[in-house]
Amino acid sequence: MALIKSWVKSANTSQTDFPLNNLPYGVFTISDSEPHCCVAIGDMVLDVTLLEAEQILIPKINDKVFDEPYWNSFMELGPESWQLFRNNLTNLLKQNPDDTKNKNESILKKFLKPQKECVLHMPFVVSEFTDFFASYHHANNVGTMFRGPENALPPNWLHIPIGYNGRASTVIISGTDVQRPMGQLKPPTEDIPYFGPCKRFDFELELGAIVGTSTEIGTTLSTQEADNLIFGYVILNDWSARDIQAWEYQPLGPFQSKATATTISPWIVTKAALEPFRKPTPKREKPLLPYLEEKGPMLYDIDLSVTIETNHGKNLKQITNTNYSEMYYSSAQQLAHHTSSGCAMSCGDLLGSGTISGPTRDQYGSMLELSWGGKNPIEVHNSEMRSFLEDGDIIRMTGAANGENYKIGFGENIGKIIPAKK
Ligand code: MN
Repeated sequence: MALIKSWVKSANTSQTDFPLNNLPYGVFTISDSEPHCCVAIGDMVLDVTLLEAEQILIPKINDKVFDEPYWNSFMELGPESWQLFRNNLTNLLKQNPDDTKNKNESILKKFLKPQKECVLHMPFVVSEFTDFFASYHHANNVGTMFRGPENALPPNWLHIPIGYNGRASTVIISGTDVQRPMGQLKPPTEDIPYFGPCKRFDFELELGAIVGTSTEIGTTLSTQEADNLIFGYVILNDWSARDIQAWEYQPLGPFQSKATATTISPWIVTKAALEPFRKPTPKREKPLLPYLEEKGPMLYDIDLSVTIETNHGKNLKQITNTNYSEMYYSSAQQLAHHTSSGCAMSCGDLLGSGTISGPTRDQYGSMLELSWGGKNPIEVHNSEMRSFLEDGDIIRMTGAANGENYKIGFGENIGKIIPAKK
């Protein structure tokens, strides 16, 4: 697949995250404006709320879906409407050699705003949040640290995409500060816990899959049906309090250690944009039960990296570079498994992939793994070392699927740690 050229010139470079091939969906304000739905194109955003209001682009006949600053109503229209809307949008923004008068450009110009002047907001209402544990390397690393290499993977791991139900209420948009959590801590040397600020605060590099349309209670989905239901993806940082987690997690799994915040990147990159970058899940170590088998490739070739900024953002260091195709289970498998009990899924359901770690140390998706539980701190700047995150640290995650002369970028997922409120 090649770059599709747009009359928006900044969309035609190999550097931009947002060529016409991408068209990710977001919500923006500019100056004191009301929040509107928009699509990113090059270094601009196109206001689709106004396009709908002026009847230039209408996703639903005799109704409005963009009169609220979220994409949920649009998502509920389903896959056919998503494709039709994307086709229309592509045609409007495409460079057309026959259009010597630049008709589309003259009509649409006033609906474009410079991205650098915009503030981006949550692109959809998160109805529920589930987080998984689906990277082989991550599960293996964490298991080795806690249980030793012989018992690294729990016996169910190669059969079930393991997950827990998280909090939708604390999913926040990139750029929002994250307050270090307080919680129950019990050092191994003590008999009883105390209450205090988390000392092992961490990030988790993940991809979030967004469920586009709802299912009724009692409905189960095949992996193909599940794949059809996924609307798009965001980069997700599942902030984690490792010390709180270590004390609380048995037997029901993580609770407060994962409830502080989950940061998502501001653009929903659609499944349609990622289509040319599909990749199969790795070879199975044990055969999966039939309901989890995939008929086609359902992972994607997406490069992901994490940079830590210390000293008020003055010092930058890339600490991780990995790829989403390292996952053992795809989002489609996770969603199929999620419905296997008849669990109803909702429009705006967010599924965290689980920490994405590759096989080598420079590909680990958390500080827990990078510093090996704090035993081998990593250098972040001129012999300044880190085992876990400190107040003032900024974590910046980026990602892109790389084509020949274009990329499908996700924008940035940024969060700064601020001190605990004691
Ligand atoms: Mn996680």
